[in-house]
Amino acid sequence: RIAYVNGRFLPQREATVHIEDRGYQLADAVYEVWALFDGKLTDAEGHFTRLERSLSELRIPMPMSRRALTLVLREAVRRNRIRDGLVYLQVSRGVAPRDHAFPTQPVAPAMVITVSAVDRVAAEIRAAKGIGVITTPENRWGRCDIKTVGLLPNALAKQKAREAGATEAWFVDELGFVTEGASSNAWIVDGEGRLRTRDANANILRGITRHTLLDVIAQAGLEVDERPFTPDEAVAAQEAFITGAGTLVLPVIAVDGRPVGKGAPGPVAARLRRLYIERARATAI
Ligand code: PLP
Repeated sequence: RIAYVNGRFLPQREATVHIEDRGYQLADAVYEVWALFDGKLTDAEGHFTRLERSLSELRIPMPMSRRALTLVLREAVRRNRIRDGLVYLQVSRGVAPRDHAFPTQPVAPAMVITVSAVDRVAAEIRAAKGIGVITTPENRWGRCDIKTVGLLPNALAKQKAREAGATEAWFVDELGFVTEGASSNAWIVDGEGRLRTRDANANILRGITRHTLLDVIAQAGLEVDERPFTPDEAVAAQEAFITGAGTLVLPVIAVDGRPVGKGAPGPVAARLRRLYIERARATAI
């Protein structure tokens, strides 16, 4: 595999960052992940816009223009000869002597890109089976709308899920509502067949897949309630699923070991997955 690090492409095992990179020491860095279909970037504009917003919230300059970044991302994909996969991009504030406050001298942001392959056949098999999720108390900070690499609560939640034999963890706020997954947004199809997902103005990541899927749903003539749900409501729902660049639209068949609906993937999630993938293939650049 070939990685991009600060202007250079090199074998990934030789790719390193400085020990005083602020991303490494302070999680002072943001990231983005694009799904690749046929070697092309899915929902490219949405991810660029969110990257620019995450950077501006942290007052880190965009390392290069969108146009230049598109070329670098494409070159990274090309050099890895990957058709179906994920592109990871990380931008940290840069390298400076350790100090919590920002460096007083201007530093260049540090940018890293890696590309990995996804087995789309295996992904479809997984989607046909569905996954289990666990719930865990929401213990993240108040700015989950910024896509930072400060992912320790997410990593611990995901590990807890794995140890419970599940795939994803849903954070639950103090009112008992699901906020989102450790690396995905959460949805249900309620008892009346209405789609429901938490309002993106809450303290969650505004998923790009979520955003595109809202459009797909509107075009399919379905209705969505942007309102939170509880784990009990998910269990009582007809269907549940998650969305994200890594999972696209993935059915959830159990919450804390309790079956959702009939305990099998349902028709709405299956249809939305198909429609989302069609859209992704048609609009990837
Ligand atoms: N929520 C969290 C916490 C995430 O980390 C992610 C993606 O990794 C998502 C939601 C889904 O966002 P997107 O659809 O933009 O990949």
